[in-house]
Amino acid sequence: MQIYNTMSKHKEEFTPQVKGKVSMYACGITAYDFCHIGHARSAIVFDVLSRYLTYKGNDVTFVRNFTDVDDKIINRANTESTSPEEIAERYIAAFHEDMDRLMVRRATIEPKATDYIQEMIELCEKLIKDGHAYSTPSGDVYFRVRSYPEYGKLSGRDIDDMRSGARVAIGEEKEDPLDFALWKGVKPSEPYWESPWGKGRPGWHIECSAMSERNLPLPLDIHGGGQDLIFPHHENEIAQSEAALGKEFAKFWVHNGFVQIDSEKMSKSLNNFKTIRDILELRNPEALRFFLISKHYRSPIDFSFDTMDDAEKGFLRVYECFSEAETALEREYNKKLKLPAEIQTEFDDLKQAFYTAMDDDFNTAAALGHIFGIVRLVNRVLEDKGLRGKDGTKAFLESFLKEKDIWAEILGVFGNAPKSIIHDLRLLHAKRLNINVDEVERLLEERNEAKTQKDFAKSDAVRETLKQMHVEVRDTPNGQVWAISQEI
Ligand SMILES: [Zn+2]
Repeated sequence: MQIYNTMSKHKEEFTPQVKGKVSMYACGITAYDFCHIGHARSAIVFDVLSRYLTYKGNDVTFVRNFTDVDDKIINRANTESTSPEEIAERYIAAFHEDMDRLMVRRATIEPKATDYIQEMIELCEKLIKDGHAYSTPSGDVYFRVRSYPEYGKLSGRDIDDMRSGARVAIGEEKEDPLDFALWKGVKPSEPYWESPWGKGRPGWHIECSAMSERNLPLPLDIHGGGQDLIFPHHENEIAQSEAALGKEFAKFWVHNGFVQIDSEKMSKSLNNFKTIRDILELRNPEALRFFLISKHYRSPIDFSFDTMDDAEKGFLRVYECFSEAETALEREYNKKLKLPAEIQTEFDDLKQAFYTAMDDDFNTAAALGHIFGIVRLVNRVLEDKGLRGKDGTKAFLESFLKEKDIWAEILGVFGNAPKSIIHDLRLLHAKRLNINVDEVERLLEERNEAKTQKDFAKSDAVRETLKQMHVEVRDTPNGQVWAISQEI
């Protein structure tokens, strides 16, 4: 399997250092607010990677941390007159709720920064002892960037270029403007811990160095996060860990692309953050997950309700195909006839292409493209009257549905009961269009009665009323089926 490594800027063959075991660390959220769609994307990307590596027979130990001490958490706690612990706990619980809905599995280990204060202090002490860090009179500890000559290797930044634009801010006691805080002396109304430098709290970057080192063997096979973390967060993690421990920190650096909203960067000033909860009010969580994996994980993805709804149409098509295949399997199959060989060959090729795409830097966009190819093939078989009732068709549909279970395992989509997803999508779509579903059901009942009494004028009139409501009715052997008109 090939994975793009941000460190080398190339795709490289991925082989875990210990055969059959993968160690993976991804930077988690700072727990001070509800998660937005950017968090959802990052969590889903690393969930898919972990699922696929597991599917390929690896025992994956995945560590994803929670930052539960930070300026933003402290500020929120002060505004709400509560404790930072209460804020962090609340938003960690909200994260789990959101991720459960998006079918993001829990990481193997989910450490919280405040449980590793002692480890962080020990790392700082080691760095100070070796000359890579220094403490200041006010109780801060800084990493001495110029003591680590490889600084900048991940982000490709040049240390001299960075230094020329940097200034030490008034009140800071840094030796060099590039130095960054490992430990911060306490300020009024902040949580603190006792340390060799007095009361204080850790800086952000040191957390991940401590939590990864204590939970996984170094070097990590994979370290991941959003592209916004490359600099300075990951650059600083590398500097701290490699300077303190004298060995490589991670073999592969994997970064997912941004989510834009209506073609603009999500930002506080534009006030365009979309939380997962906002989106899921009128959208299905599995459809959102499908949307987020429909682009390659390194590309930016543009979220708008229109693009999401377009993706949902494709998602629905796949589920309709599963549903129709299930219905078709309830038929009688008694003719000992095989399917034409070319259908089987096309199916096998597309199945293989799915895995080839996943092996190529876990390209979910291409993998989904091959699933759509299979869906088109299955629909062709289902619509071909000459193939109905043949044993070969039965075996083909069964192997299609078995393959669906593997896709669900790897991608985390297509694992639900088709009829319930189709129903849910229809209800949500109706809600978005302000269609009164109870009224639709009542009219369908009325139409049914009219048909039973052979009052075709009335049944047509009801159909027309439904059409005005953007609802189309189809008569099937199992009764009336309704759908929202395509023209909308
Ligand atoms: Zn981190």
